Amino acid sequence: MSTPISKVSVHGGHSGQYCLHARDTLDQVVQAYIAEGYSWVGITEHMPPLDDSRRYPDEAEQGVSAAQLKAQFSAYFAEVRQLQARYADRIRLFAAFETETYHGSAAFVRELIDETRPDYIVGSVHHVGGIGIDVNRELYEEARAWAGSLEQLYCRYFDLQLAMMQELKPSVIGHFDLIRIFDEDYLDTLALPSVWSRVERNLGFIAEQGFVLDFNLRGFDKALEQYPSLPVLKLALQLGIAIVPGDDSHGVASVGRNYQRGVALLQSLGHDCRWQLPLLFPWARSP
Ligand SMILES: [Zn+2]
Ligand SMILES: [Zn+2]
Repeated sequence: MSTPISKVSVHGGHSGQYCLHARDTLDQVVQAYIAEGYSWVGITEHMPPLDDSRRYPDEAEQGVSAAQLKAQFSAYFAEVRQLQARYADRIRLFAAFETETYHGSAAFVRELIDETRPDYIVGSVHHVGGIGIDVNRELYEEARAWAGSLEQLYCRYFDLQLAMMQELKPSVIGHFDLIRIFDEDYLDTLALPSVWSRVERNLGFIAEQGFVLDFNLRGFDKALEQYPSLPVLKLALQLGIAIVPGDDSHGVASVGRNYQRGVALLQSLGHDCRWQLPLLFPWARSP
């Protein structure tokens, strides 16, 4: 007899209340996790932009300033702490956030950590050469042109990821190979020696540090398969890296989406589906 597989999310809980490209209130999103029977969930809203030039295009279009987004981020943290307490008997919530990676972001992340004292952070890269790679195909092409080639775009992405991991030591690594988002031939691109050696190098660092890899179920909707893609996932498992589902939910409708599909895939690869908790900051560890 097999023990039931618990439902967890190491990366999710974006809400329309605190993120322009998400939907619903944070309370509604948390209630959806409870209704779906989740045991624990890391609420990992995006960090605010360093300055106005670093805003997402939708934020700039709607005229929301970096200062407003920063204030909204503080409100977000206050609310996650309230929800954590309110629903403590029904679900274990972690108050966390997802990083950006661009020039000057690391120092800003450290400031935000000092200010908000999160339970943990998710280290993500959404920009190469300062250009957002997951916003739309046009910007992706712009980033590719900046890098010089698709191969170079992947190389720069994985180099930025390594530098970010070395600087911030985030206990969860978000959507490891997001760089393939608009590349239909990503299996070929990942297999290029210059790219694959960087994948191996970064996974080696993750294994050595004991970071958790976000098994990002949103990839099924946005990029043909989950992040990380199958060859990366197989190597991560060989290296003994903890792989934990993250639904990367951006509203009630995406809470728990693709969970069974993700679990079935992990089981087929021999994963025991016993989920490791991310390493928490010292101030968040229970006595
Ligand atoms: Zn988002
Ligand atoms: Zn992300």
